[in-house]
Amino acid sequence: TEFTKIGLNDALAYSVAEKGYDSPTPIQAQSIPLILAGRDVIGSAQTGTGKTAAFALPILQKLGSHGKMRCLVLEPTRELALQVEEAFQEYSKFTDLTTTIVYGGVGYGKQRDDLRRGVDICAATPGRLLDLLEDGSTHLNDVEILVLDEVDRMLDMGFLPDVRRIVQKCASNRQTLFFTATLPPEIASLADWALKDPVQVKI
Ligand code: AMP
Repeated sequence: TEFTKIGLNDALAYSVAEKGYDSPTPIQAQSIPLILAGRDVIGSAQTGTGKTAAFALPILQKLGSHGKMRCLVLEPTRELALQVEEAFQEYSKFTDLTTTIVYGGVGYGKQRDDLRRGVDICAATPGRLLDLLEDGSTHLNDVEILVLDEVDRMLDMGFLPDVRRIVQKCASNRQTLFFTATLPPEIASLADWALKDPVQVKI
């Protein structure tokens, strides 16, 4: 298929075909091979461009299931965290990878239990994740792929200090993927600090 041509395996190509996608969107065509090759990526893309699949598909291909949090996706809002976790669940139907979600405004019990049980992929908002890190419910030592999504919205919401604290807790040999619609100086300096030799993908 058009998806296997850019490097996706048959199981993932099958799950996107089942969702009715015929061919990769421009951000997918550009990002998927780079992410599979292990590069850090700055993607300037809005929602609606297929951005979620552009990072979720290659991440699912790269991770094996170990029940350790090896992928963390930070989102500015609960709604976005929910959407991203749902996308990961749909695309991972034919794998044994597990996903969970962490956000504020609800009780801690279920999120704490899920994290303690162990998951491969976590979608989270920054404040609640920091709470759960501070109380020892989880740690980020095993994170191999960190996704900072909608960074411009995280800036608008005043989350960049929290984001920096979270990034510092991840291993330095991780792969980092960074998505933002705009690149004002605060965001450019966060990207400079958090990414290694990134490739910029603009659509
Ligand atoms: P996103 O930009 O990630 O919010 O995705 C926007 C919408 O496009 C979602 O509803 C996806 O299911 C859909 N989508 C993602 N990739 C493709 C594709 N290659 N072909 C058709 N639809 C897609």
